Amino acid sequence: MTHYEAIVIGAGVAGIYQIKRLADLGIEATVLEAGGDLGGTWYWNRYPGARFDSESYTYGYSFSRELLDDWHWKEHFSGQPENLRYLNHVADKFGLRKYMQFNCRVDAAHYDEAENLWRVRVNDGRELTCRFLILTLGLLSVPTLPRIEGMESFKGRSFHTFHWPHEPVDMAGKRVAVIGTGATGIQVIGEIADKVGDLTIFQRRPNWSAPLNNAAISEAEMADIRRRYDDIFAACSRSPGGFLHEPDRRGFYEVTAEERKALWDKLYDEPGFGIWLANFREIFTDEKANAEFSEYIANRIRQRVKDQKVAEKLIPRDHGFGVQRVPMETRYFEAYNRPNVHLVDIGETPLVRVTETGLRTTERDYDFDIIVYATGFDAITGAYDKIDIRGVGGLALADKWRTTISTFLGMMIHGFPNLLMPAGPQSGSASTNYPRGIETGVDWCTDLLEHMWAKGYTRAEPTAAAEARWTDHVTKMYAMMLMRKAKSWFTGYNSNVPGHEQGTIRYLVYNGGAPKYVNAINAVASGGYEGVTLGARHPGGTSSPSLASGRS
Ligand code: NAP
Repeated sequence: MTHYEAIVIGAGVAGIYQIKRLADLGIEATVLEAGGDLGGTWYWNRYPGARFDSESYTYGYSFSRELLDDWHWKEHFSGQPENLRYLNHVADKFGLRKYMQFNCRVDAAHYDEAENLWRVRVNDGRELTCRFLILTLGLLSVPTLPRIEGMESFKGRSFHTFHWPHEPVDMAGKRVAVIGTGATGIQVIGEIADKVGDLTIFQRRPNWSAPLNNAAISEAEMADIRRRYDDIFAACSRSPGGFLHEPDRRGFYEVTAEERKALWDKLYDEPGFGIWLANFREIFTDEKANAEFSEYIANRIRQRVKDQKVAEKLIPRDHGFGVQRVPMETRYFEAYNRPNVHLVDIGETPLVRVTETGLRTTERDYDFDIIVYATGFDAITGAYDKIDIRGVGGLALADKWRTTISTFLGMMIHGFPNLLMPAGPQSGSASTNYPRGIETGVDWCTDLLEHMWAKGYTRAEPTAAAEARWTDHVTKMYAMMLMRKAKSWFTGYNSNVPGHEQGTIRYLVYNGGAPKYVNAINAVASGGYEGVTLGARHPGGTSSPSLASGRS
């Protein structure tokens, strides 16, 4: 049996940085990755149009000056192929690939109390053990398909966007269906509308969306960005979402309607999430303010879509702008002005089944060559549910979290000693520009490990009381947010997952903003990890970690 001091599960953005930290410390560690290679989200999601909604230079890692200096982002919002190249570049530059094992899906991880270690079962039949189990599973790594009949009977090609084939898909002249109009569907539709024969979009609920305004980055611009990296990352760490965009501090009602419109006109034409995150703060908390801004965006849609009947169908009625994750779009609304693009409102005429030749709604049959399911994910907890994780006394994590999620700082769980989640449910990392969040989370987890190794502790577990306090804090943060009313993955809704289709709110993300989160977790660390019981549980155990040259 092979033993490691730490096993990291998942070789995406978080897993790559986590193994870098452990490798630098000389710890004996490995990364187990279900996919055929590293990259996580950027390995899997190869659909046309997949790209950052974050400014590329805010998405890259900040930990190495040399890395910042040698990478040239080609676009302000970089596309999937380039993003995957970047993550491979990072792994190669720092020699991290040798710590990674691919095509290794972890089926189970059980805490062995007597030995104070984790027993990890991999789908190739191996059992590995480790003292520390670090879960970097991704927030959106379990795709979900509709639960409709006949999916196997379709004779054409069909795939979820997450499983988009690695080889190019010839769509020229083809009749293509896209089901779903979240951030993914909106990217795909904008990209393929002029490349396919016929495109039919099956929309259940429209989403608010605004232009990404992407552009290339020249050599000169990149040189300037490199000079400004310190300021860029400082701005990200000041902002609630870990982005360059900081809220407009003027009160919504302190300025005139004309001044509000002037800000919105400016933001609409600017790149990225500014329209959402550099807006008035009341957009997120005040129904009236949100309604006024939503109407502004609705009018933009009416201006861009020629057929006003179609425009009205593309305007959300059940939620206001920004209370769900806002998809950024490129030529999305203009796609509906094309004669080869058709919108089917499956809110009115629901999908009934998949047929051999296409899709059937309550109204009629449609024939297709390709069906694209852009139907989203079992978000945040889905990847945890897929592994049989058991803690003290055999308690299953899925059972612990069945009715309510509870964590300590979103990174540790009572009853699951030595299990760390740098970007777990209820962590700040789950609700910010991901790399900014995971760097914080990975650093905090690694600092805790270093503290334990230095002091000779071999067991860390948050107390029930500390976990309850954190979960209560996270829950209270939702109370002030309009997002609590929206049916989206932020609140745990997914019509395709049994038990999550009712829209019963699940407190999955930390809404207090990155600065507040970082303050909270730093206070715990500087206070000697109050709320975490640290102990040398295994009397015969060594207090020093197994180093890379150690046993296996
Ligand atoms: P999503 O936001 O959950 O959207 C799923 C879409 O599929 C919704 O329109 C949903 O309709 C529809 N749908 C789901 N099940 C359906 C069914 N059974 N029948 C008909 N329609 C169904 O998922 P996503 O678009 O993949 O985006 C998820 C998240 O991934 C985003 O919010 C974002 O955080 C991330 N993402 C990021 C980027 C980026 O950074 N650039 C790009 C893409 C995605 P309802 O709304 O009615 O449920």
